[in-house]
Amino acid sequence: MPKHNTLKSIQAAIQNGETNGVSLVDYYLSKIEETKELNVYVEVFAAEAKERAKVLDQKYKKDPTTVGRLYGMILSIKDVLCYEGHEVTAASKILEGFIAPYSATAIQRLLDEDVIIIGRVNCDQFAMGSTNENSNYGPTRNAADPTKVPGGSSGASAVSVQADTCLASLGSDTGGSVRQPASFCGIIGMKPTYGRISRYGLLAYASSFDQIGILSNSVEDAALLLEIMAGADEFDSTASQSPVKAYSKQLSFDKKVKIAYFDTALNHPNLDAGVKEETFTFISKLKEMGHTVEAVDFEYLDYIIPAYYVLTTAEASSNLSRFDGIRYGYRSPNATNFLETYTKSRTEGFSEEVKRRIMLGTFVLSSGYYDAYYTKAQKVRRLIAEKTKEIFSTYDFILMPTAPSTAWDIGTMSNDPVQMYLADIYTVQANMVGIPAIAIPLGKHENGMPIGVQLMADKWKEAELLSFAQKIS
Ligand code: GLN
Repeated sequence: MPKHNTLKSIQAAIQNGETNGVSLVDYYLSKIEETKELNVYVEVFAAEAKERAKVLDQKYKKDPTTVGRLYGMILSIKDVLCYEGHEVTAASKILEGFIAPYSATAIQRLLDEDVIIIGRVNCDQFAMGSTNENSNYGPTRNAADPTKVPGGSSGASAVSVQADTCLASLGSDTGGSVRQPASFCGIIGMKPTYGRISRYGLLAYASSFDQIGILSNSVEDAALLLEIMAGADEFDSTASQSPVKAYSKQLSFDKKVKIAYFDTALNHPNLDAGVKEETFTFISKLKEMGHTVEAVDFEYLDYIIPAYYVLTTAEASSNLSRFDGIRYGYRSPNATNFLETYTKSRTEGFSEEVKRRIMLGTFVLSSGYYDAYYTKAQKVRRLIAEKTKEIFSTYDFILMPTAPSTAWDIGTMSNDPVQMYLADIYTVQANMVGIPAIAIPLGKHENGMPIGVQLMADKWKEAELLSFAQKIS
């Protein structure tokens, strides 16, 4: 079977009788087998995916109008999303053996439209990281060069699409975890507005930042998946009530737009020369197309990372307190009393990176330091949100590189967490402010690795963002 980049082309092939659900599942299973050394899947749902495909094929044969909109879509899911009856561990020992008692709202909505979930993929533990190396299952490798990381934390989600083991994947994006790996792997990565997709059934990292995101080969598939998952949900009060647009049907775009970029971002000392050059070439291309692209002042760029790591670790220290060795997953066999059950289960169950963040978060929330760190970071968040809003009163989009460089060698970031944190400089603004953002591939660096570029839009402007991305990608 040739590689399909869109659900539309798969559905056309099904209609022509060239393929069906079962053949698609067989094809992707063989791809999973072929790319095993990349360490993408932590669990493959082979038998049930085949069975589901068989049932759907029969339904289609009887009456093609009875199948859902996602018939033919084979999806992988990051190991932080609950899928009823399946293990979910956030790539952590602390959740070893934990079976999801219900499906995330987003997952359920896709299942209702006849998606087939082929497996659960690796990630950084509790979605904390930018390399997919912080995992109980070991690192995932980039399919473009297996000596490189795929990015993170949804690294394996990106590789699952890049290596053609599924058509699309769900990840989560708290500070760039969908967009950065998408760029490192040369695919599309979309993070919607905070509250656009329900977080019910997504294991929490930092609740005021977390959003489910989509990794795909095409903008049109991202649009369709978003349209199906988005919308109000009685199980998540932060999920917006605002009506969901038919994003996949509004993908034509013929306006001329105004785009802002930050001088401070594109002339940042940490930005790789090749990435910078490609980004400026892209800006020239946009200008040639008749769009206005201008530099604007944004004086807060260097405050984004410190504020983000204060706020997200604070929220994580609270969210992760529920993993106590009593209620979920792993319980230390070495504990001899009640208190030790807590301490040893947590000490043995969480990775070094997760423990570092829990301690940092506990520290910034502790009495005496709360105002100096947590309150201050909230003020920074507010300033960044206000400044961003002001920019959107004049401009349609903000353009940024997705990451300051292409994918790193495996092992280079693991001993230097601060260096790793700093690499999130271009992605965390969207999460701080809660706006939608999309990473699109921008060709190859001279080192052979994919480069991505990122566009952000004002809140709830997914339709504009997707249709413009479709136009220019
Ligand atoms: N790299 C960032 C972090 O470690 C982003 C993670 C994410 O978006 N889940 O916090």
